[in-house]
Amino acid sequence: MEKRALKFIYGAGKYGQLLFQCFTPFMHIDYFVQTEEPERGAEVKGIPVISFEEMIRIEGDKIVFIAIGDKRISQEIERNIYRADSTNIEVYYCGNFIADNLVTRRKPYLAGDKHCIICKSNFKEFLPMGIQEEIFNRHHIIGGGYRSNCICPCCGAGDRERWFYYVLQNKTDISEISGRVLHFAPERGIMEYIKQNKKIDYYTADIVMGQAMHVTDITDIQYRDNTFDYVICNHVMEHVADEKRAVEEVKRVLKKNGKWIFSFPICTDMTTYEDSAIISPEARLKAYGQIDHVRLYGSDYKARFEKYGLELQIYSPEREIDATDISKYGFIEDDVIIVAIKKSN
Ligand SMILES: [Zn+2]
Repeated sequence: MEKRALKFIYGAGKYGQLLFQCFTPFMHIDYFVQTEEPERGAEVKGIPVISFEEMIRIEGDKIVFIAIGDKRISQEIERNIYRADSTNIEVYYCGNFIADNLVTRRKPYLAGDKHCIICKSNFKEFLPMGIQEEIFNRHHIIGGGYRSNCICPCCGAGDRERWFYYVLQNKTDISEISGRVLHFAPERGIMEYIKQNKKIDYYTADIVMGQAMHVTDITDIQYRDNTFDYVICNHVMEHVADEKRAVEEVKRVLKKNGKWIFSFPICTDMTTYEDSAIISPEARLKAYGQIDHVRLYGSDYKARFEKYGLELQIYSPEREIDATDISKYGFIEDDVIIVAIKKSN
């Protein structure tokens, strides 16, 4: 079962209230948050207002929408949240979103020329997301760092997830086959799409308990040889220390001509970098762009996976659709989804 994350709007003033109006039709907000201690029992629009310290003390997964116009202040708040909170937390800046989807006096204005292909909503801007780290200034890393057009404000799907959805829909037969699919670290929108095909026997897996149907380690998969028509794992391989073992396991459980669909952040201006001596979260953040990554894939990624005897097809928005649609659907133009075919055992 999917765990529900608590949702906070940081900023109970004019911006916070505008954002609340935008979100009201499709999203429940649990709390408003403000930096200063609110009066006891304070409410805005019927939602309790709590302080930063109270928010940090609340346990569980959290999503925080920072509703403040000044980006420098938003960034400072974001840093404080990440510093203070050790639970699973996502933080979004919403300044642009509020300005662009400006609410009329009477009703939220959610219409525009951006379109989410997953939930089919229209609006003016996607929400920005991603961290600003030094490594992203030095290198171009596809799918990493801060992106201004990332999150769908209606269903929460990110840019990479939307491109993956496009590839599944337009470049695979997953909506028609009868067969078995194994999906690691499943994305909600993708899961719902695959489940629409009732002829599929669908297994979801995650290394963390409670995130999917089964706890599965990709380097030690508990299924028999030649079981699956598709194995899916987006943004998993960059967390896996033993890449070779993981690829062997995926190949083992795939049927002949079965497809492995996967992706990871790719640094286009260098070759794959990994150093097993880099262990601390700070060092990993500096070297790879995220505290729990174990390598940064580079421009040699295709040759690297072909060496395992897989046949690779690469799908990028810039090679499939025009710039207007890339912007409309909020894709990363050089994003990469890899479809690898197992040609033999
Ligand atoms: Zn959406």
